[in-house]
Amino acid sequence: MSARGPGGELPVPLEPATGAGRYAPSPSGDLHLGNLRTALLAWLFARATGRAFLMRIEDLDRARDAGSAAAQLEDLARLGLDWDGEPVLQTDRGAAHEAAIARLAAAGLVYECTCTRKDILAAVSAPHAPPGAYPGTCRDRTSAEREAVRAAIAPRTPALRLRVPDDALAPAFTDLVLGEVHGDIDDLVLRRGDGTVAYNLAVVVDDAEMGVDQIVRGADLASSTPRQILLQRLLDFSSPPRVSYAHVPLVLGPTGARLAKRDGAVTLRELEAVGTSAQTVLTQLARSLNLATETERVTPTQLITRFDPSQLPRDPWVWHP
Ligand code: GLU
Repeated sequence: MSARGPGGELPVPLEPATGAGRYAPSPSGDLHLGNLRTALLAWLFARATGRAFLMRIEDLDRARDAGSAAAQLEDLARLGLDWDGEPVLQTDRGAAHEAAIARLAAAGLVYECTCTRKDILAAVSAPHAPPGAYPGTCRDRTSAEREAVRAAIAPRTPALRLRVPDDALAPAFTDLVLGEVHGDIDDLVLRRGDGTVAYNLAVVVDDAEMGVDQIVRGADLASSTPRQILLQRLLDFSSPPRVSYAHVPLVLGPTGARLAKRDGAVTLRELEAVGTSAQTVLTQLARSLNLATETERVTPTQLITRFDPSQLPRDPWVWHP
């Protein structure tokens, strides 16, 4: 099997491996068709290459909805997806996250930042910096300045940022769906002022420690990947040695905007309430991936032999109820 870049070339062999793929939902409500389709694809990529398939609940954000992780897992199981071992809860992984931050700090790669979002927007950024990039305001403070700013923002506490080494090249990567991807990197947040570990740090530490060597997720996250590859390098995660990436097309609602609650029945439970069974939803997802005909009853396992990443639709799927 192989994947084709947008130009039709065949850059990345998709070889059987002994590593693991994963799905990493954030428990912020029921999964909608876009999430379910990404989960099905992550499962297919992993199973078609003989990998384990792991589940990780990304519950670091305090705004999470406590009950929704269980409901999400139940919906995935009802579509016929399975996973290996118990789901990993990101909130159980705090010690590993903090240890990674400590290693970066010991290498001089962490600094405190007291900027608010407003400060960052108001600051004049470097001429070639990407929009919204951190302008470096807190990067080179002396310890006296740091103390003064810390006192000034109390009881707020500073965030921690990565001091991206000046000679760090923004890592490009070859995506199994998108082809060559380049991205800009700024001094990203490692831990927010409220103490929550940032997504990029947590994802890199957890994927490495879970043995994940295949990352399949929505195309909206492709721009985070260069940051994550840089973090992998700075943390010297030699295992897994090489991670393959597939950022898969999003699902859009009938108006062409990203699928959302306003588009009506978009979760498995809502669809069932209007008479669409889990089986029909699976068939519709498979059809959207050119893996089934309209009336076919399929199982995810049947789809494994039909799955060819080079034939994956490259454009978003527009959902019409
Ligand atoms: N938790 C993220 C989300 O639900 C996905 C993170 C990832 O796959 O790296 O969008």
